[in-house]
Amino acid sequence: MCGIVGFSGNQSAREKTGSGKKVRDILIEGLYSLEYRGYDSAGIAVTDEKGKITVVKSSGRVEELDHMTEKNEKMNSGICGIAHTRWATHGRPTTANAHPHSSEKVTIVHNGIIDNYVDLKKMLEGDGYVFLSETDTETVCHLIDREYKKTSDPIEAIRNSLDYLKGSYALAIMFNDRPGEIWATRKDNPLIVAKGEDGCYLASDIPALLHHTRDIYRPADGEILCLNGEKVVLFDREGREKNFEFSHIDWNVNAADKEGFPHFMLKEIFEEPDAVRRCVSHRIGEDGLPDFSVDGIPDEMWNSFDSIQIISCGSATHAGYVGRYLIEALADVPVTVNTASEYRYMPPAFVGKTLAIAISQSGETADTLAALRKAKEKGCTSAGIINVFGSAIARESDYVMYTNAGPEIAVATTKGYTTQVAVLSLIACKLALARGRMTKEEALSYCDSLKNAVPDAIGNITERRDEIKKAAMRISKQHDVYFIGRGPDYYAGIECSLKLKEISYIHSEAYAAGELKHGTLALIEKDTPVIALCTDGMYYEKMNGNIREVRARDCYLLLVHSPSFPHPEEFSDDRFELPEVPAVFTPIVSVVFAQLLAYETAVMLGCDVDHPRNLAKSVTVE
Ligand code: GLU
Repeated sequence: MCGIVGFSGNQSAREKTGSGKKVRDILIEGLYSLEYRGYDSAGIAVTDEKGKITVVKSSGRVEELDHMTEKNEKMNSGICGIAHTRWATHGRPTTANAHPHSSEKVTIVHNGIIDNYVDLKKMLEGDGYVFLSETDTETVCHLIDREYKKTSDPIEAIRNSLDYLKGSYALAIMFNDRPGEIWATRKDNPLIVAKGEDGCYLASDIPALLHHTRDIYRPADGEILCLNGEKVVLFDREGREKNFEFSHIDWNVNAADKEGFPHFMLKEIFEEPDAVRRCVSHRIGEDGLPDFSVDGIPDEMWNSFDSIQIISCGSATHAGYVGRYLIEALADVPVTVNTASEYRYMPPAFVGKTLAIAISQSGETADTLAALRKAKEKGCTSAGIINVFGSAIARESDYVMYTNAGPEIAVATTKGYTTQVAVLSLIACKLALARGRMTKEEALSYCDSLKNAVPDAIGNITERRDEIKKAAMRISKQHDVYFIGRGPDYYAGIECSLKLKEISYIHSEAYAAGELKHGTLALIEKDTPVIALCTDGMYYEKMNGNIREVRARDCYLLLVHSPSFPHPEEFSDDRFELPEVPAVFTPIVSVVFAQLLAYETAVMLGCDVDHPRNLAKSVTVE
């Protein structure tokens, strides 16, 4: 959600101007690589050696900003700049509301929300400031300008301004009498700084930096940074200079490129077998059993609580449902799955000692972070299931289990979700062993399937795109789709349904199959598509009954089933046979079918698969 890029070039970069990379190019390329986060408008500010700042904004895509600036002399001869993709929270996505915003001495870009902007606006209007946009951000800009005019000191101006701000922010700031410097600070929103050969960089996320450097630093809340071409200087909240070290990240550049795939989403679906295998193998010890010592989690931890509260948003919550099913079924430990935006204001009752598990691909999801803080405040031990290294939730959790899925760029999660379920599957096994609910032999075979059969089965599905395209042809002509299933298939169905609606914009819902007749069956008529997931032998008979109910209303029935489902052809118009895996793992496998179904459907409908409308990748606002 929202992307910030900043760059200040050093002497060698300035000498290269003309033949080498220009500030404008670096900033625009950075914005392109952050497009996956979701945005609705974009802008750039570049400063020349005398401090003259040129701002260009567009209410469209980065491509438009690129065309608008490519021949702009001032943009091309700049020494330093900041750029932004905006995901509107306050004010429509217009050019006037796009960032950067400027005051007399200050130009800024901002990610986040200023909760008290109405009060601040009144105060600043009283001081004579005139507002040109509807954004909350403009208040920060004028506030820093006011404080800078009082103190002429950037550190004091920023520190004083932070005293006024309520809410969340990542800020990049340029002062027009300090050419070549970018100042930055953050609270609850992501920001990283980095040093490369040509100068110093700032960005919301790693893909914007990967082509330039791997040496990054993630500032903590309240820290203040100054980047110039040569170095990054760090100050604490009190304005004292502070030592810090860059950490080296080993993501390779290709990981953030499409590598010949037409969309990141497809590339990421094809990466799932390796991602799941890697995530699981990493946590299976030499004895073939789950081992979380790689995450620094001592074995005693698994026996140190009475219940689990999962906190998450969106697909991570759907992963949580599968996790709850596995943990309760295998280890008999009570689990609640909680939508983080609700939990942060009203958590459920706490039963005994509680382990709170925060699940978030980006590790920056604002609601999940706030819910995690609430859980800690209530005395829970906390653990994160996170993909992005060093992110806010990873830093604030007592324990972190990284999913190691590599960068996920498409807004709709695929490998992010399956690796989260994989980690939860291992947790269920670990708990079942720790609490004497599973024998060693059972655990050995469980881990072996998770490490081998599951990634192989996912690979098998990705090879059957033609079959899936046929089903997509039918689905793409519909307005409403229903997924039904029981037990694990119901939980998988919830994620399947979200995948379809978020990228193809076809309305879709998931139901526990037995629940349909309590209302929604009224909507099933001739040719309404119903996708029935039948992968667990325990439910076959009951599913037969539920399928008959919808078939009696002449629906179009697409059956997604395990090889053992009896006489599938008698029950369906079309069917997709999943590869054989133990029933507990089918939610990781059947969802891959649905990810591809959603993908093919969206492509057929001409949707922007990687950037679905109104959505953002990393939801860093409440
Ligand atoms: N709240 C700010 C706005 O609406 C920033 C939004 C963002 O993070 O892109 O302009």
